[in-house]
Amino acid sequence: PPAIECTSLVRIYRTDNLEVQALQGLDLHVAQGELIALVGASGSGKSTLLGILAGLDAPSAGSVRVDGRELAGLGPRERMLYRRRSVGFVWQSPPRNLLPQLTALQNVALPQRYNGVGRAARRARALELLDSMDVAHCRDRTPGRLSGGEQQRVAIAVALANSPTLLLADEPTGELDAESAHIVMAALREANTAHGVTTLIVTHDEEVAGQVRRTVAIRDGRTATETHRDEPASGA
Ligand code: ADP
Ligand code: ADP
Repeated sequence: PPAIECTSLVRIYRTDNLEVQALQGLDLHVAQGELIALVGASGSGKSTLLGILAGLDAPSAGSVRVDGRELAGLGPRERMLYRRRSVGFVWQSPPRNLLPQLTALQNVALPQRYNGVGRAARRARALELLDSMDVAHCRDRTPGRLSGGEQQRVAIAVALANSPTLLLADEPTGELDAESAHIVMAALREANTAHGVTTLIVTHDEEVAGQVRRTVAIRDGRTATETHRDEPASGA
């Protein structure tokens, strides 16, 4: 099955008398192992879509399948398990993914507890992930002692800890300078290629979008246009 299959997805927020149609029949297909950028004006529905794919929110109507599994009808417990096991999430602000009192190594080891992974195996996988994100040297430091780019690379390692089906990143370079942004994009591409995880990046950054093969634009809660690049920029 495709990694992501959204069909006529609708999300309506109701507050008092106000009704906001954040998603108005959105269709999206993403193949296994693809890396895509999601762009669109503020308020177009990007965060809403990401929240639904992450299992943090449920659609009002329509279908959303991840790895062939329908998420629309999941109960609270199934949704929680889906969130923990199948999704890695990277936020705009790196520290939000990381516990400030834990070292980088401990931060990456921690989520694996949800999957019942033993201590030695957690540690081994954490070291391997830190190494693949080029932040092995940061293993014994707490997030406060890392640069913004290092924090975000550790955060990507945390997101990969449980071998998720989807890696979702919400403006992952939004608060970084150009150099750190390049490094973080390289880490996300590495996550996509080396770890084979289907990756969706919400971004405003033209340079970020220029580094992926496929960019999907959302307008007014619907997929509007698509851009394909045969040879994405390396970002180096
Ligand atoms: P984007 O991420 O593209 O900026 P959002 O998904 O955040 O777009 O928002 C889509 C629309 O839904 C906007 O009009 C926004 O104001 C509205 N919206 C988002 N979250 C809520 C909410 N919790 N309650 C009411 N309206 C919301
Ligand atoms: P270890 O067994 O080496 O302590 P763990 O993966 O069990 O490794 O935990 C790593 C670190 O995270 C430890 O320092 C532990 O105290 C801390 N820790 C574990 N669970 C939590 C939690 N829910 N909140 C904050 N810290 C935690």
